[in-house]
Amino acid sequence: MRSLLFLRDSFVYAYDIMIFIPREESFACEHCGVDVHPLGSGTYRNHCPQCLFSKHVDRDGPGDRLSLCLGLLEPISIDQDGKKGLMIQYRCVKCGKVSRNRAADDDKILEFMQNHHKNA
Ligand SMILES: [Zn+2]
Ligand SMILES: [Zn+2]
Repeated sequence: MRSLLFLRDSFVYAYDIMIFIPREESFACEHCGVDVHPLGSGTYRNHCPQCLFSKHVDRDGPGDRLSLCLGLLEPISIDQDGKKGLMIQYRCVKCGKVSRNRAADDDKILEFMQNHHKNA
């Protein structure tokens, strides 16, 4: 139990400061269980590159960490944003809130889109 709690704390902490001080820290994905390693390019990774799942920790904006939900954020679609590049659209499996996150370079975007098409 203790190690689970620790993982959750370090994830939330790293997410909180990602805009200001990118922190190189690994965490275990709560959806597929894969070890998620830092990008190493000064960009903090806040979602799993394998299954793209993230976690509902923000309430009003990125990094505010005010959400008490902590549900898993399920990736539902990929958008192309002119300024920011690829954006992953999420829906929280617990409360249903929809949000967006910038995709990382090594995210399995293609795999996600292929699986998504199969299911659609
Ligand atoms: Zn995962
Ligand atoms: Zn939620």
